[in-house]
Amino acid sequence: MIGMQCAIEEVDRMGGLNYAPPEGRATKELLQAIMTADTPQIASAAISLWIESQPKFPTPSEIRRIISEKNSEHRERVNAEQRPQHNCSECQDGGMRGGKLQGRAAGPWEFCSCRAGERLRAKDPQAVEESNVIREKLLGMAQTKAVA
Ligand SMILES: [Zn+2]
Repeated sequence: MIGMQCAIEEVDRMGGLNYAPPEGRATKELLQAIMTADTPQIASAAISLWIESQPKFPTPSEIRRIISEKNSEHRERVNAEQRPQHNCSECQDGGMRGGKLQGRAAGPWEFCSCRAGERLRAKDPQAVEESNVIREKLLGMAQTKAVA
């Protein structure tokens, strides 16, 4: 959501278009449609797109549609930026892979063959062994539970 003032400025930018909505209710609907933009930049981009291609004022539903598309594009971009980028898909750069307790991929931890794995092996040679001790304990607990 953006503020009312931002939306009013965007409506002002459309002053040169034909068939301006009458003051009051219709304008308010248009303002509310513009305010659904996630950011002022999105509102501005949507209105620019409209002004450049259309001779007349948009309806609130037309504006909502354009802004909703631009909101989705924006959210996807933000998500992509926030998603952590791992060099290694096997260990997510942690240096160890495996360690699954159950399922087809179940197995002990091992050093990954990537650079993160090499680094971890050099820095903490016991890491795999220690993690496997913990894994065995967890497995033991799971089995005890299953028996009981
Ligand atoms: Zn790796």
